[in-house]
Amino acid sequence: MSFVETVPTASAQPASDGRIDLIGLSREELGALLASLGEKPFRTKQLWHWLYHRGVTDIGAMTTLSKPFRDKLAQSCFVGRPRVAEEATSGDGTRKWLMRFADGNEVESVYIPEDDRGSVCLSSQVGCTMTCKFCHTGTQMLVRNLTAGEIVGQFMAARDSYGEWPSPTDDTRLLSNIVVMGMGEPLYNYDAVVKALTIAMDPEGIAMSRRRITLSTSGVVPMIRRLGHELDVNLAVSLHAVTDELRDRIMPVNKKYPLAELMRACREYPPASNARRITFAYMMLKGVNDGEADARALVALVKGIPCKFNLIPFNPWPGSAFACSEPRTIARFAEILNEAGYSAPVREARGQDILAACGQLRSASMRERLSRHKARVAAGIEDDHPHPRRQPGTLPFPIPEGASRDQ
Ligand code: SF4
Repeated sequence: MSFVETVPTASAQPASDGRIDLIGLSREELGALLASLGEKPFRTKQLWHWLYHRGVTDIGAMTTLSKPFRDKLAQSCFVGRPRVAEEATSGDGTRKWLMRFADGNEVESVYIPEDDRGSVCLSSQVGCTMTCKFCHTGTQMLVRNLTAGEIVGQFMAARDSYGEWPSPTDDTRLLSNIVVMGMGEPLYNYDAVVKALTIAMDPEGIAMSRRRITLSTSGVVPMIRRLGHELDVNLAVSLHAVTDELRDRIMPVNKKYPLAELMRACREYPPASNARRITFAYMMLKGVNDGEADARALVALVKGIPCKFNLIPFNPWPGSAFACSEPRTIARFAEILNEAGYSAPVREARGQDILAACGQLRSASMRERLSRHKARVAAGIEDDHPHPRRQPGTLPFPIPEGASRDQ
């Protein structure tokens, strides 16, 4: 059985009253839905415009649609968004949301402003199956895949937060880029991720250029190939080791898809040109992968691949087996990559004042639920809240303070 087959399939869920969420339907599905309501095909374009260009969530406010059509649509459909359970904005402009879905599951999404762009980091799964040893999310089992609507919905909720509707042109938009590198392995939720990004790229809606979208993977080789052929977005690969021996230990996906296969897939990835390079993320782990010999081996490993590096200082979490490399070690590592002709910026810590290290908002929310549950149990009150019924990976023990996740 492949890894891909082990993950539950994500499909759009109707609301408890049976109404269908319009967000996450492809144009074809939307057209079929409208046909089933007796509407003409041109309505699809009109509705798409309201949903994805104007960002309107109230069907009644879609004024170019006839009143009878709006009424009929509102009876059977709604415009969904993840609920923003928490929002925090850092002094450095980073904004983070804890997004809650209809079933109570939560993920984090982050807006990271930079000089020349503003990236929204989206999650693709609740939990993760990959068990990367340096990642706090890797200690939590997969709960479920997100649907296409829940993935593109994170971006739309972020846009709501900034009031960035109707969709501006690429040149003026604040939320200018999408990076799929939040919780989860996006290539293990391939269909929903591709569908969500296809919706985001549609020129009559959000109109996000494919060159402004980056998908990050731990190295699911067959799906990298498929992604290159089917979607052609920028690729980021979490590398973190230069030998199979080490990568097997810290990223179990490597046992299935070892470095030679991963590098071959990267070499063959269609957008890999000087204009559209692959980014290799490399976590700096003290005494593990940060030696000068590692840096030189890294240069040799990626030979022939137009690429750049993103060096990530490890953000320790209680219980993690690693420490962050010394600043001077990181600087020397970067220098060796630079001397070989590669760009290798060191990722800045962002949003430290708002618990913006990945995983922290969700962990805090889970801790709060657990203590609420304990208080009710201690008081002898029967707990009817759904969350204390333990979900895989969510409540086996209290989540430690400062828990974080990085990729
Ligand atoms: S680094 Fe990414 S793929 Fe690995 S466990 Fe964490 S979320 Fe999953």
